[in-house]
Amino acid sequence: MEYPEISWGKGVYLYDKEGNRYIDGASGAITANIGHGVDEIAEAMYEQAKKVSFVYRSQFTSEPAEKLAERLAEHAPGDLDWIFFVNSGSEATETALKVAIQYWQEKGRPSKKRVISRWMSYHGITMGALSMSGHSIRRSRFSSLLEQYPELSPPYCYRCAFTQNCPNCADDYAREFETAIQRLGPETIAAFVFEPVIGAAGGAVVPPDGYFEKMKKVCDKYDILMIADEVMTGIGRTGKMFAMEHWNVQPDIVALGKGMSAGYAPMAATIVSDRIIQTIESGSRVILSGHTFSANPQSAATCLAVMDYIENNHVVQNAKLQGSILMKGLKYLEQTYPLVGEARGLGMLCGLELVADQHTKEPFPLNLEVTNRLIQKCYEKGLIVYTAAGGINGHSGDAIIVAPPLTVKTEELQELLTILEEAIAELSHELS
Ligand code: PLP
Repeated sequence: MEYPEISWGKGVYLYDKEGNRYIDGASGAITANIGHGVDEIAEAMYEQAKKVSFVYRSQFTSEPAEKLAERLAEHAPGDLDWIFFVNSGSEATETALKVAIQYWQEKGRPSKKRVISRWMSYHGITMGALSMSGHSIRRSRFSSLLEQYPELSPPYCYRCAFTQNCPNCADDYAREFETAIQRLGPETIAAFVFEPVIGAAGGAVVPPDGYFEKMKKVCDKYDILMIADEVMTGIGRTGKMFAMEHWNVQPDIVALGKGMSAGYAPMAATIVSDRIIQTIESGSRVILSGHTFSANPQSAATCLAVMDYIENNHVVQNAKLQGSILMKGLKYLEQTYPLVGEARGLGMLCGLELVADQHTKEPFPLNLEVTNRLIQKCYEKGLIVYTAAGGINGHSGDAIIVAPPLTVKTEELQELLTILEEAIAELSHELS
């Protein structure tokens, strides 16, 4: 497919070189959280570039990197205080995996060296991150090279693995977790890795009440670390700075990416609790991870300016407020069009699942390419939405994510919803 050449952007809009305007209903890949073309960020980037853009992390640190680490530690829950900078979400989750394995080695328990993850998940495209991902389509080509880390059912109440008890199914998910641990052997498991809200593999799937609290109890019982992959949810996307604050469960390690720089520079981070870092500091003292561009001052200064913008403009509060307006609009689509099986999400991370039959929840056959057709229709009408199909083990499912910048205004949301409705109405007509 040929993509249009984008010339410039402002706020939630992008403009191509032919002069066509697109409303960015997905913040790119759920990344451009403060919108496009923000002057304050451009100025901060220029100021830093005039001073110094790059120093190597094993030779020097820099003021922007130190300040950014402090700022993230201030916002991160509990004792998540130690920050390791990387350049992409995949590097952040892969570093989290390595830190967890290293932690148990330094504790004298080297057999704890695998993670356990869930189907219908996405943790990144590099081999370690893909091994953790339960995204059937993205795994398929490389499956023989990947570790089999996905073991658990996704907490996905629309098609709940524990239908009889749903929505009081948190205990069932915890029991399934405990059974898997016993089968694999607790002495082999370093960590449980999860997305607080399932993104690219499911379309904004929120777990049932009590899920994280129950999973945490199981982790504590068997000495298993919790790794929250907040690459998509972190820095305000769900209406709180960190999504795990919705459940008051503090993970041991957090992966961040996307919204950290809001797309203005490649930057991501792995945040580690004091307990873990103290163990490593009193042991080998070295984290065996890192990349050439890690902690470069140019990206760090950019992220600092993004954090300032988020704080000064009450962006997280806006995400919560406008997210509820967006959800109302999506629920209207669910009630109006049988094609929409479920509208769901948290804050400004929302999704729609598309089904052939709203009552039986029967999915569409894959060869109809329903998700791609909806995305294409939106695109032709000047709206960008994001694919979230492909994560379901066994069949692919059809789902999209709707997640505009957190700075979106109500009238812009109305425009987004009008276009989305037109596209859904047309597709419904074609499929009927
Ligand atoms: N983790 C989650 C939850 C993601 O959504 C993504 C990307 O979509 C990643 C990890 C990988 O991030 P990146 O594409 O920056 O490597």
